[in-house]
Amino acid sequence: MASPSVENLIKISREKRLINSADAALIQKAFSFAKSAHQGQKRKSGEEYFNHSYQTALQLAAWGLDPKTISAGLLHDVAEDTPYTLDDIKNNFGEEVAFLVNGVTKLGRLKYRGVQRQIENLRKMFLAISEDLRVILIKLADRLHNMKTLGAVPLQKQKRIALETNEIYAPLAYRLGMQNLAGELEDLSFPYLHPQEYKWLIQNVKEKYEERLKYLEKVKKVVNDLLEKINISPIGIDFRAKRYSSLYKKLLRHEMNLEQIYDLVAFRIIVSSIAECYTTLGAIHQMWPPLPGRIKDYIALPKPNGYRSLHTTVFCVDNKIVEFQIRTKEMHDEAENGIAAHWAYHEAKGKNIEKKPIFTNRKELEWVNQLKNWQEEFLNSEESLEALKIDFFKDRIFAITPKGEVIDLPAGSTPVDFAYSIHSQIGDNCVGAKINNRIVPLDYQIQSGDMVEILTQKNKKPSESWIRFVKTDIAKKRIRASLKKDHLPVNRERLRMEIKIIAEDRIGLLKDITSVISRSHINISNVLTAPNSPVLTSLKFLCDTNNKDKIEKVILKLKKIKEIKQISYKPVSFA
Ligand code: MN
Repeated sequence: MASPSVENLIKISREKRLINSADAALIQKAFSFAKSAHQGQKRKSGEEYFNHSYQTALQLAAWGLDPKTISAGLLHDVAEDTPYTLDDIKNNFGEEVAFLVNGVTKLGRLKYRGVQRQIENLRKMFLAISEDLRVILIKLADRLHNMKTLGAVPLQKQKRIALETNEIYAPLAYRLGMQNLAGELEDLSFPYLHPQEYKWLIQNVKEKYEERLKYLEKVKKVVNDLLEKINISPIGIDFRAKRYSSLYKKLLRHEMNLEQIYDLVAFRIIVSSIAECYTTLGAIHQMWPPLPGRIKDYIALPKPNGYRSLHTTVFCVDNKIVEFQIRTKEMHDEAENGIAAHWAYHEAKGKNIEKKPIFTNRKELEWVNQLKNWQEEFLNSEESLEALKIDFFKDRIFAITPKGEVIDLPAGSTPVDFAYSIHSQIGDNCVGAKINNRIVPLDYQIQSGDMVEILTQKNKKPSESWIRFVKTDIAKKRIRASLKKDHLPVNRERLRMEIKIIAEDRIGLLKDITSVISRSHINISNVLTAPNSPVLTSLKFLCDTNNKDKIEKVILKLKKIKEIKQISYKPVSFA
């Protein structure tokens, strides 16, 4: 593979849209920045990490996307995998590029583990946190390259990623009208998901393909003559083998009988206008009788994802069955690249350099509606009528566990709600929370895409104060029930102890501290933190005890934790 070249990237982009010198400079800058940020990093395959960023950007350029999206493609793994932060990207490339990179990072935290009930949440979350379709397109380009290099990652991971690609990314691409990409993603996952079947197909189909191609060459000559007679000069006539993944799906419906598959290789005719599409169809039917029930007019009635074309299956030369697809160039490009093709088309038609805002014209809005319908479909399938009213998930948020599982919550939910929706025990025992690796107060309002980690303490009971800020019914119910049950010691002790710690933060520090405290049988009722400086963080633990000796013993134990630089305590009174 050729090594990354910014000239090549800009060249490919220029083939699809107008690139002025400022655009080129932006891409150039992102290229150098990402290249040096990933310097020395290698992928599992042994190739330079930056090559992955480059391939992602190259795909975006080939889809005709704008320079900011291409730049974000180059930078998409910088915030997550290098010492540079999102702020660095913002400072160097501006809000919009940083926004796109951040979106991709958020999507990257989602992991699909093949749990059926998770699919819907995950797809919904995808749409909810993307906000901008370009984020999804970057993620799709990223995934495409990851799938092409999947052979290098460990076996167990291969299967998970292939499954995720098949269940989430390919359907998403299809919904965006990017059939070509959807098919490619399915084909790339197929060998990992069905290795035996894949082998069988390779062995059994190859010969059939070759035989078929020879035959279609013969048909092509006849078709050329036919079109000449009716004065149509086609833009292209080609035939492409059916993808393995879709062939497999079809074979399952036909008892694995290859003879039954007429479109093993589909014959495609590309003409200049819609009128020519119908004229061509008529001419073919005059020459060869169609199979009843196999004529499909997706021009008059496009598929729900926008696909347009005429399909027919006829008894062709030597009485063999052949499928024809007839369409215009624009339909063809749309069928291949969907939403991306729209961008490219409208820009090319405009010819002037003025940039068009995204989603201004009707066609693009149609795509957005497609997504909306998709969302509604999911809501329809499982949830109540109440949920149907949700408009674009305005009042839902989707947060994830450190393992990548999606938790669906009402807007305004807090870490306590999150904890209770995982498990009531985790809710009861919750003492603190980290959002995207930063400690936050328990009444923090979770945003879609946040990764939430709940810190727990054994035997911890819910605090009365939680009632004031929780959003979910399940949390409210549990807190009330638990407070009713033991209506005793908390109120008796009007005095509590607050331990204040200044420490160098590290992963697991909070857990170590809380476990020392809980081993001394002291209940923590709240944890507050504030970063003191980039390295030091200040933590306050409110403890349900007024026993000075007990606290002093705990402090002695806590001093053994080497990150703790300062520790003190004071009694605090409680109203
Ligand atoms: Mn990536």
